[in-house]
Amino acid sequence: MTDCLFCKIVAKEIPATVVLETDRTLAFRDLNPQAPTHVLVIPKEHHANAAELAVADDGLADDVLKTAHEVAVREGVAETGYRVVFNTGPEAGQTVFHVHAHVLGGRNLTWPPG
Ligand code: 5GP
Ligand code: ZN
Repeated sequence: MTDCLFCKIVAKEIPATVVLETDRTLAFRDLNPQAPTHVLVIPKEHHANAAELAVADDGLADDVLKTAHEVAVREGVAETGYRVVFNTGPEAGQTVFHVHAHVLGGRNLTWPPG
């Protein structure tokens, strides 16, 4: 998609600090981190949100989840605990409409979130 911020990151038209890349996913640091580890994991293929990704029916959601876990391992938070969040839709605060998993860790994360 030409007018999508994260598609532009996939295309390397906008710079990002990449922490992990697989054939179908990309993981990069959030510009405005909310925790010591705050990495966004996206499918390279454009889907607007987690609902669309869930019905894509091609294993892509699995790939995103596996990359999220691998990021947690590499960041050293897999043992201490981490959170994987898909903000989906306006009331959840989604601002970028290319599905992304937030991988958050490295501090005590409160529940429920605000
Ligand atoms: P959302 O609110 O849609 O769940 O999350 C979007 C996230 O993307 C936010 O945490 C925001 O800080 C991050 N973000 C927005 N623009 C950019 C950008 O250009 N580069 C990176 N790395 N992160 C971005
Ligand atoms: Zn996109």
